[in-house]
Order: sequence, then structure tokens, then C-alpha cells
Amino acid sequence: MNLVVVSNRVARGMANEPMTGGLAAALLPVVEESGAIWVGSSGRVRDGAHKEPFAEIEALGAGALALLDLPAAHYGGYYEGFANSALWPALHSRTDLIRASREDYLSYREVNAFMARALMRFRKPETAFWIQDYHFLALGAELRDLGVSQPIGFFLHTPWPDRATVGAVPQHRELVTAMLAYDLIGFQTEHDCENFLSYVQSDLGLTVADGVVASRHGISRVAVFPIGIDPEKFAQQAAKAASHPDVSRLRRSLNGEKLAIGVDRLDYSKGLVNRINAFDRMWSLQPSLARTASLLQIATPSRGAIEAYGDLQSELARLVSDVNGRHGEVDWTPIRYLNKGFGQTVLAGLYRTAQVGVVTPLHDGMNLVAKEYVAAQNPADPGVLVLSKFAGAANELDAALLVNPHDIEGMARTIATALSMPLTERRMRWEEMMAKLRASTIQNWFADFVDALQESHADKEASV
Ligand code: UDP
Repeated sequence: MNLVVVSNRVARGMANEPMTGGLAAALLPVVEESGAIWVGSSGRVRDGAHKEPFAEIEALGAGALALLDLPAAHYGGYYEGFANSALWPALHSRTDLIRASREDYLSYREVNAFMARALMRFRKPETAFWIQDYHFLALGAELRDLGVSQPIGFFLHTPWPDRATVGAVPQHRELVTAMLAYDLIGFQTEHDCENFLSYVQSDLGLTVADGVVASRHGISRVAVFPIGIDPEKFAQQAAKAASHPDVSRLRRSLNGEKLAIGVDRLDYSKGLVNRINAFDRMWSLQPSLARTASLLQIATPSRGAIEAYGDLQSELARLVSDVNGRHGEVDWTPIRYLNKGFGQTVLAGLYRTAQVGVVTPLHDGMNLVAKEYVAAQNPADPGVLVLSKFAGAANELDAALLVNPHDIEGMARTIATALSMPLTERRMRWEEMMAKLRASTIQNWFADFVDALQESHADKEASV
């Protein structure tokens, strides 16, 4: 089989460069090993993109990386517009933030159609296409319109919300109908799958049986594929990173003080305001924790051109400064707040230095940071993960201290509990979580999806 993987962003030659976004970081090693062709945006736009689609094709393991310049006239409407100002807020249940113009939607469809045309050069009789994430909900339908009859699968990295929330996107019917051109539609959790099937049944009036939807495109299988990480590799990276200058400087600066760490893209879905409020409450409720436990929050800038992100950045900067102003001392800063990105090796070392990892999204498809924090711990003296029950990762990592990020006081108490948890309990919880990570790696995820795609396609062919 010849596999073509498609995503908006691709990871290029940057094992140790700052990178944000779970998708590209997670996919790089497995795509590299698989020999697939990975197609995505070059990050550049071009006026004449329609005429001369590819800027660059470079080797990637046994396969290739194809970097595509997207059409300049539609990029803004596609990326900042429909994908990130309509779909992303809807998928993360922030209907109040949806900005969905018809014009942006048309640009989104144009870019999906453009990508479909660009993919035709990779089509061989034995090709299978695997499309990633909410940027390309309609790409499968565009490929079918071009006569592609090969297997086409889709995986959504974000949550899929309930029917009413999906219905807040004006073009919801057109989009979900287009998604049914995929042979296989993968989600992170059972809950996402159930929401999708319930929408398809109730809003589109289609028949669903055993996770299979029948539509005018034939049948599509809907199934769960929780994305994983490579825990052994992460553990090795973390152990090695101890001597990295950033990591040893952090360790030296702590003077025996305990550290909690948060690592997130600066995004309203990540629950950053709730988290800072919880730390504020913790230091108020337990003044003995002032000076003895601080927070390192990395909030990597993301989608800065969108108003909601700019607003959040200002709100967080004010909040952190207020909390530091109230709880700080001449020689103690409660929150070290960094608006920049780090390479994963350094991150692994930072995770290992922190006694507590705090991951408190209001909604998150999976949350790879939660998994990475666990994998990076020293087995002899592991840290504690405090994890939102609204992250997909909570399904597997139920040995973490699970919190409701809307319950600020509850979170404050749980973070304090985590900071003082005895070694035996820490080890028990960590081993349980590590076993889950080892049983569900990124390699398994990739192979399981590709196998299921072949099967779903064969079922579809047999059903006509
Ligand atoms: N990440 C990184 N550098 C940073 C911040 C994050 O490499 O400065 C990586 C992190 O290691 C993780 C990914 O970005 O692999 C974030 O994935 P997650 O699923 O937690 O959230 P997303 O950003 O995809 O919503």
C-alpha cells in the first residue's frame, strides 16, 4: 500500500526546535517510519498557487514530505476564518466565540478543493489517503468528486461536541454530509463517537448500525482511536535532558522548593485562567505553600491574529501579574510565566523537574502534554498528574488526580494534595498510567487506523 497522510501543518526536520500543536509533533516519527507521503501546508501562501501547486518535496524517512503553498486569496478565510474562528470554537463547545461568515466558509471549501486537486499527483491504484483534523472535513468529498475510489480515512484530533453545539455552525449539514465520503472516521473518545452518530441519526436522518453509517456515499465506519505517544522515547529524552542548560538552571533556581508545571498553547480551551485562579486560591487557603511551591507556566503563543486569542493573552498577562503582585515576596515569584515555545527534549527535562503536572483544559480532544508529563517522570520518584476530566486523556489516565476545571476551590485542594503526596502512592499511580501509555502507543494508533481503513474500504466495496 502507498499511504498519503494529509494535515494542515507538517513537522519538518525539527526534532529539537520549538514546535507547538500535538498533531505535527505526534505524527512526525510514525510517518517517518511508515514510508508514507505526508502532504501539508508549507506555511506560505502564493497568488498563482493553483497553477503550480508544490513548492517543495523533500525526503522523510523512507517516504516524502510535500509542502504546498496555499492560495493567497483564500488562506485567511480558511485558516484564521472558518477553521479557527468557526470550527475550533464549536468543536470545543465555545459557541459564544463562533465567527462564521459565508465568505470564510467558501474559502475553507476552496482550500479543501485545492488540496484535493494537489493530491491527485500522488494517486496510484494502491494508494490510501488519511486526512487529519478539522481543517479538512470536506477533503474526502472533494477527492470523491475527482473520481478517487481508493480508501480515504479521516481522524479528528479535537472533541466532537453534542448535536446542539454542532448545529451552531451555520454550514453543519453540508459539512457532516461531506464527511460521510470517508470510509473511516476516527475520533479520540467513545463520547465523541456517540455525539457524531447521534447527530448523523437525528439531524441527517441516516441509518446507523454498529458504528456504520449508510449515506449516499455508501457506508462509513465510525470508530475510536485514542492517540498515544512513544513513552519509552520520551522517558529517554527526559533522562538525557537533565543536563540541558535550561533544565539545570531551572533546577538550581528552585532551592528545594516544589514546582508545578503547565505547558499549553495559549488557547481558551486549555483552562489557563481557571488554573491560575486555582493556584491563587491555593496560596490564599494554605499560606504555608507560598515560598514552598511555585508554578512554571509555559503558554506558547498561538493563532495571534484571531481576536479571542489576543484577548486571552492580555487577560492572562494581567491575571498572572495580579497573582504575583499579591502573593510574591522580594525573593519569591509564585508564577513563572513564559510566552514562548520549547523543543520537546527541553520540555521533557522540564516535566521531569516538576513534582506536579497541571493539565486543566475545559475541553480537549486528547491532550498529549498529559501523556508526555507521565512518560517523562523518574520511575524512582515520579511526579503527580493533575488532569481535567474533560481531556480525552482522562479516559486512559484515570490514575491521575482528576479535576473539574470549573471548580476552582476543588482544583486548589487537589493541587495541594498532589504537592504533598507520599512516594508509595505516587509510584502506584504513575505505574498504572505508564502501563496504559505503553499499551497504547502512537505506533499502535497509526497501525490500527491504517488496518481499519483497509477493512472499512473492503466492507464498503462489498456492500455495493
Ligand atoms: N509543545 C512543544 N513545545 C511547546 C509547547 C508544546 O513542542 O513549547 C508540544 C507538546 O510537547 C505536545 C504538543 O505540542 O506534543 C501539544 O499537544 P496537545 O495535545 O497537548 O495540545 P494541542 O496544542 O494539540 O491542542
